[in-house]
Amino acid sequence: MVKALTDIYTTFKSIFTGMGITFRHLFTRSVTVQYPQQRDVLPERVRLKLHVNIDDCIGCRLCERACPVECIEIGTIKSTDDDDLGETSTGHKKRLWVDQFDIDMAKCCYCELCVHPCPTDCITMVEDYEYSAYDRNDLILSFSDMTPEQIEEAGRKLEEEEEAKRRKKEEAMLARKKKEEAKAAAGEAGGEKPAGGGTGEASKDSDAESSRGADASGSGDADSDAEKAARRAEREARRAARKAEREAKKKSED
Ligand code: SF4
Ligand code: SF4
Repeated sequence: MVKALTDIYTTFKSIFTGMGITFRHLFTRSVTVQYPQQRDVLPERVRLKLHVNIDDCIGCRLCERACPVECIEIGTIKSTDDDDLGETSTGHKKRLWVDQFDIDMAKCCYCELCVHPCPTDCITMVEDYEYSAYDRNDLILSFSDMTPEQIEEAGRKLEEEEEAKRRKKEEAMLARKKKEEAKAAAGEAGGEKPAGGGTGEASKDSDAESSRGADASGSGDADSDAEKAARRAEREARRAARKAEREAKKKSED
């Protein structure tokens, strides 16, 4: 009997306590925001989404290197001597085409470490938090505005320029070698004895030197060819990945 009475008392006590709290809230100011019609004022320096003003980007990759989770991917192509890419709004001369600037917001930890080293202040956090997506790939933000044709053209122009420079260097080296040989031949004909040994030896030494130089330049050329091929392969792989991504996205939209 006593237990039953205690239970009845506890039940009523709980009901009145709960109702009391509810009643008190009838007279306090409401804090519920009717989103999306109403929006809270965001705190200063809030970190929500990254934005890149690509016109001001010089492709220095400082942001990419600063990112602790490697969610920024930047691709650049050197401009040629006759390209004029202009200046950024901060007065920095642009020398690189930025053919890729992707940020994977699904990986980003909003640390803002990429924002501070930027010399042109073109990467910033913006007040946009409405970019949820069903597919993680839709959270990869692409900022480069270059078309595949422009990328192709920039790459082709750079290769042509590098090839022309290499050829010019080779020709200059050949001309120098010929000049040295002619000098040595003239010395021999005049019966001159070059210092440090016989004429034959000197000429041999000079030949050896030039052939060493040619060898070195040959290996340098081979290196530069390999570098170029690697760069081209990298560019092509990036382009193919982007194309596949675009096609997959289009298919999923269809
Ligand atoms: S905010 Fe941090 S994690 Fe996100 S892209 Fe910048 S450096 Fe990387
Ligand atoms: S640090 Fe700034 S200028 Fe350099 S690549 Fe990043 S966004 Fe572009």
